[in-house]
Amino acid sequence: FLANMSHELRTPLNSIINFTRILSSGLRGAVTPEQVDYLERVRLSGEHLLGLINDILDLSKIEAGHMNLHPVAIPIDVLIKSTLSTTMGLIKGKPITLTCEIEPGLPLLYIDRTRMRQVLLNLLSNAAKFTDAGSISVHACRHGNVVSISIRDTGIGIPADKHALIFEEFRQVEEDSGRTYQGTGLGLAISKRIIEMHGGSITVDSTPGIGSTFTFTIPISTAHTSPEHDPAGPVVLDDPPAPTRPIILAIDDDRAMIEILQSYLQSEGFLVVGVTDSRKAVDEARRIQPVLIILDILMSYRDGWEVLAELKHSHDLRHIPVLICSILDNQRIGVPPNANAYLVKPIDREQLYRTVRQLVAQHARILIADDDQDVRNNLAFYLGEVHGYSVDLAENGAIALELLRNSTPDLIILDLIMPVLDGFAVLAALETYSHVRQTPVLILTARDLTSVEREVLAHRTRTIIQKASTSPETLLNHIRLALGQPNVTRAPTMTVE
Ligand code: ADP
Repeated sequence: FLANMSHELRTPLNSIINFTRILSSGLRGAVTPEQVDYLERVRLSGEHLLGLINDILDLSKIEAGHMNLHPVAIPIDVLIKSTLSTTMGLIKGKPITLTCEIEPGLPLLYIDRTRMRQVLLNLLSNAAKFTDAGSISVHACRHGNVVSISIRDTGIGIPADKHALIFEEFRQVEEDSGRTYQGTGLGLAISKRIIEMHGGSITVDSTPGIGSTFTFTIPISTAHTSPEHDPAGPVVLDDPPAPTRPIILAIDDDRAMIEILQSYLQSEGFLVVGVTDSRKAVDEARRIQPVLIILDILMSYRDGWEVLAELKHSHDLRHIPVLICSILDNQRIGVPPNANAYLVKPIDREQLYRTVRQLVAQHARILIADDDQDVRNNLAFYLGEVHGYSVDLAENGAIALELLRNSTPDLIILDLIMPVLDGFAVLAALETYSHVRQTPVLILTARDLTSVEREVLAHRTRTIIQKASTSPETLLNHIRLALGQPNVTRAPTMTVE
């Protein structure tokens, strides 16, 4: 019942949060600072409610014995470090140092990656929330048959008589002290259960005004100690991995020009790889498969015209857009028909951004299959109008397959539950369409998946995103990640640390 209810609650909340974001960013018309302030409050309340619903669902699943762990052998140091990078955002602006000390040579732990990350994130975000200045440190070391992980902060601390209470549901110290912090009072209760499900335990040591240390243990399993393929398949992401930046290849014999392009475009999220020897340009393009090529015309050895002709005659390279950047004025020489755009040096930074974004976006075509009209409108606006991708929309799986018969998108965003033909059926059909068999698929799902479903998706999908809890920025990162690697064969799992 709760699983179904949470779907019904999360879907409209998702719309509230996303439409609020669009309104407050001014993309749909001017908003006054006062309106932005109100919209932010709507968004924060929505996100708070969403967090609460997710927590209650987790807790009810544990209570009902329905929370299944998907343990795999994991190097704990990697998990800790990646979670710490998320925590950096939480202490931004506060004078807090974040340190991490991990005993070298710790054995692999047999744990559920997503759930253990949830525990670490909860303890770290509590530390960040209740600490105004000082330090937060993470230690991990081995004690006999367990690995012990502690998170220490120099925050407000917890009175001794409250140490047991905070692990109970909906209990917060502040409820008595009059201080208010955002929170549901469920994080520690859930973390404790998750740790216990892994066979470990959690304790707290804290002094008001000095700080708190939360320590939990995870038993070292002797049965499974080699890293193995994740049998649970794709991981439901709560955070995007550091996106692999789309690569732009800059071909120019002037090293300074390449440096200028690098400094302009790397701040825009691209990785610019430079080639100064035009004889190597085509081979490099073939090796790197960039999303865009920026090409100079007047170069020694081979000029830009020759390089352009070879690029456009190669079946594996001709789809890559080419932006010509030259001191030759295109008014006089005319834009070559097989180039996609032309800029005259010295380049104007804003014009460069605009052109590059347009070319890279034009390059990528995204098919969105979702029966929820709000989700479709939202994504079409955000990805199409704001970010310039070409977007095709389908309201069910049958329409999606119809569209796929005659087109080859670069990415498919797929809802799992749809009328007429659901997402699983679409995935099965994709296997029989040779032209899209390798196309990356992002699954957008509003509900938790069973292990059988995860198994089914494991070999076909690159990423699963929990629909209601994903922000547009997160989604965009996943899309860029998927599109930034045009040549990867479909990985069975995108393991996210
Ligand atoms: P919440 O969502 O309120 O943070 P938790 O279950 O994670 O819920 O924590 C319960 C309560 O325990 C918090 O409200 C706070 O009073 C106390 N607490 C947890 N971690 C810390 C910490 N690092 N420092 C001080 N108090 C803490």
